[in-house]
Amino acid sequence: MNNEETLRQFYTEVLGLHPEWEAVKVWKDEAKKEVHIKVVSSLKFYQCPVCGKRAVKYDTRERRLRHLDTCDYQTILEVEVPRVKCKEHGVQQLSVSFAEKHSVYTEMFENKAIGMLKTMTTKAVAEQLKLGWDAIDNIKQRAVERGKQRRRKVEVLDAAIDETSFQKGHDYIATVINQKDGTVLDVLPDRDAGTVRSWFKVQEAADFSKINSISMDMSNSFQKAVEDTFSNWKKLICFDRFHVSQLFNKALDKVRRREWAVLDKEDAGNNPLKKKRFGFLKNSGRLDNRSGKRREFLALTRMNLQTCRAWRIKENASVLWNYEYMGAAQRNWKSLLWWIAHCRIPEMIKAGKTIKNHLWGILNAIRMKVNNAIQESTNSSIQRIKKMACGYLNKHRFMTDVLFHFGNLDMAVAPL
Ligand SMILES: [Zn+2]
Repeated sequence: MNNEETLRQFYTEVLGLHPEWEAVKVWKDEAKKEVHIKVVSSLKFYQCPVCGKRAVKYDTRERRLRHLDTCDYQTILEVEVPRVKCKEHGVQQLSVSFAEKHSVYTEMFENKAIGMLKTMTTKAVAEQLKLGWDAIDNIKQRAVERGKQRRRKVEVLDAAIDETSFQKGHDYIATVINQKDGTVLDVLPDRDAGTVRSWFKVQEAADFSKINSISMDMSNSFQKAVEDTFSNWKKLICFDRFHVSQLFNKALDKVRRREWAVLDKEDAGNNPLKKKRFGFLKNSGRLDNRSGKRREFLALTRMNLQTCRAWRIKENASVLWNYEYMGAAQRNWKSLLWWIAHCRIPEMIKAGKTIKNHLWGILNAIRMKVNNAIQESTNSSIQRIKKMACGYLNKHRFMTDVLFHFGNLDMAVAPL
């Protein structure tokens, strides 16, 4: 066996061509740093790809497919693909067992690129594979399409719906998540009630016939969409802990800022609220315990300031979530709401009213022990990929990326 024959056999084997295809020539282009491999069909008889009946060979067409590099040489398969003539279906090109129809990459190459895109940016993958940004983006878009088509309806018992920002300002997308495993069931282009409602009506990704809970924020739009879709909405909707504490935190921060400005005018040097923003917003259990800072901060919270009273309200609300008995939960939330209503701090009174109107859904969340920890962790991962990509100019791309990374889609290329 001479060298060339060994090389041909080697490539036939490593490319997994056998038995239908074989490498018949291997050469390298030193100037371009490329290895070329000519691949031909080794079939003795042909079948029509449409009906499977015996057919005669008509001619061949060349397909150039980029393959995995050979020692840093870009490797290109030049495949002579037979076309056959069927009495019934005319001239038909045969498919190739190692590449998807119409693709310019082999299956191995494309799957490798998809794997790299899981942890790298499109730009970085493009640089490593020496391809253009658009080519890599195209591989990603096709992967998501493939995954979406293979998606089977999953039965969802607990769902969460939330918004996540697309660009700075007020442009949002909405994600629907399966609470069971954090999978993003789908991405919606905005958070409008109409969009969410139509998604629930026609969506193909999930089966909601046995749904127990849908966790969400207290904005009207998600609630409206669920109200219009499910007759038992009043039992399903859960306003989750994170959004409730966010509401209190925002109100508290407004109080602190207002009071800070007044105190600063009176005596800037002795303003007790100076540089205390994070102390107030943090969960008190997570306050820094070193060098007496925690003690110092807790002493501050005992001062007779509106900020301190608002902080105590927030801290009290944060422990009202782990009840086994709904009677006790209801009683304690109502007494907190009474306290808020009489606290004479306008920002907190406003927040209290919102909570009062949504108490039924908060109690649902406590009863069903629903929280959106999974949703929040997915959301922060979404924001991380956004950062990695240095933001997105195109919303559709952002939505595709969310599904690419968190949709648990089966995106691998499968030829034929
Ligand atoms: Zn045919």
